[in-house]
Amino acid sequence: MNIQVDKDKCTGCGICKEACPKGAKIWDINKKAMATNLQYCHICTICAGKCPEQAIHVSREDNNEKTKNE
Ligand code: SF4
Ligand code: SF4
Repeated sequence: MNIQVDKDKCTGCGICKEACPKGAKIWDINKKAMATNLQYCHICTICAGKCPEQAIHVSREDNNEKTKNE
């Protein structure tokens, strides 16, 4: 899976981190948002839905490995 943040759109508001169930583990807000530790992400897409700038793109696809859907 993959989470991309459009750095041109992101304002660093931190809403994605607040909204994400694993926000403290995944989201690093340092002027711009960055998703790290994606092994904790369960692809709920809440972050993408909450971002006021629509800067987040959550994709289930991964170039290297397949993600199991449990
Ligand atoms: S909610 Fe959107 S604009 Fe706000 S920090 Fe997260 S990615 Fe950036
Ligand atoms: S998809 Fe869900 S778990 Fe993953 S970063 Fe976004 S809000 Fe967090």
